[in-house]
Amino acid sequence: MTISQTDVQKMKLKGKPKCPLCRLPLTFIYEGSIGYSGVKCKRCGQEFIINTETLEVLKISRAG
Ligand SMILES: [Zn+2]
Repeated sequence: MTISQTDVQKMKLKGKPKCPLCRLPLTFIYEGSIGYSGVKCKRCGQEFIINTETLEVLKISRAG
């Protein structure tokens, strides 16, 4: 499945949660998102869970 750039531009951006460690934007969250999304920072490699409703970024602890 694909979506055109035009359609993406029509979607309302809710926010771009940033990596709390290196400030790189982790992902784009659009209006209507609910639930959690797992992302890995492309710069520092740290993994996070993002609450797409509140845009809260939760660091996944490697120590368990
Ligand atoms: Zn990072």
